[in-house]
Amino acid sequence: MSEIRQDISTNEWVIIATERAKRPHDFMKPPKQLPPEFDPKCPFCPGNEGMTPPEVLGYRQGGGANAPGWWIRVIPNRFAALSRRPGDGEPKRDIEGGFFRKMDGVGRHEVLLETPKHNLYFPNFTDKQAEEVAIALRERYLALHHEPNIKVVIIFKNHGESAGTSLLHPHCQIVATPIVPQSLRRRLATATRYFDDNGGCLYCDYIEAERKAEKRVVEDSAKFFVVHPYASRSPFETWILPKSHAASFGNQDIDSTKELGHVLKRVLGKISTMLGNPDYNIVVHTAPVNEENEDYFHWHLRIIPRLTMMAGFEIGSGIFINTALPEETAPALREAKAL
Ligand SMILES: [Zn+2]
Ligand SMILES: [Zn+2]
Repeated sequence: MSEIRQDISTNEWVIIATERAKRPHDFMKPPKQLPPEFDPKCPFCPGNEGMTPPEVLGYRQGGGANAPGWWIRVIPNRFAALSRRPGDGEPKRDIEGGFFRKMDGVGRHEVLLETPKHNLYFPNFTDKQAEEVAIALRERYLALHHEPNIKVVIIFKNHGESAGTSLLHPHCQIVATPIVPQSLRRRLATATRYFDDNGGCLYCDYIEAERKAEKRVVEDSAKFFVVHPYASRSPFETWILPKSHAASFGNQDIDSTKELGHVLKRVLGKISTMLGNPDYNIVVHTAPVNEENEDYFHWHLRIIPRLTMMAGFEIGSGIFINTALPEETAPALREAKAL
């Protein structure tokens, strides 16, 4: 019989379909052809800096802005979901026709180019490059969270077409919004209720519970805990949680940020060797700007390999059906080679 498990972070339910369960190795994707190291048409490749808006950050030795020589570069998204004009004030809220609520699309939308090489993926980075990507993300977080009217800074990565990107050049995105998304509000409410009932952080207690259970732990490193959550919504969903409590990604010191780069490189490397470089999304769940120092929320990062499709039942009910057991995928990933 299948099992219905509750997600601690949302109280949402997940069906773990044990009878349909596939073995961890059955999710392997067929190999993809690697693109060239340089693509003359790619706006993110060096030499094509003029094809993007002027950069807001560049890690480079010598050379000027918006020219080759960088190893990490951050630019405003040319097709920004949210943007800001000079002199923008408070985003205007309005009620259209006496009923429909709306507001100006004020905010920031940036793209972080992780490497000048068109075909070099995170697991193949040097440790130093992995560290610096994490440091650059932190630097942009800290720059954006103080901007006026910004409520949340959302960091994410889409890798591959089924994860929502057609641009192959390795990149992450950063969106700063003037609203708190309802899904984050729900996570905050769930964690706050837990804090009120139990007097402690839900996620700190969750780490302890998973550590005691042992069977879903992928890695327990100096500063981070990596786990396939009890109520995983999809096969190989992987959470990376800082071991010391912090509500905000921006509260990490430089040492922890470097360590995050190493952990991410290792875990993505294992996912890549075990599953054949699958498409995936990474999302960072972090507290809103005015709740960054609270005891009840705990920032973390989630990797969601795109191995299955969301279908009618998921769309209609919000209940995911997972055909893999986290108790089986976690040990398999723990033993996998990190490239
Ligand atoms: Zn490129
Ligand atoms: Zn905590």
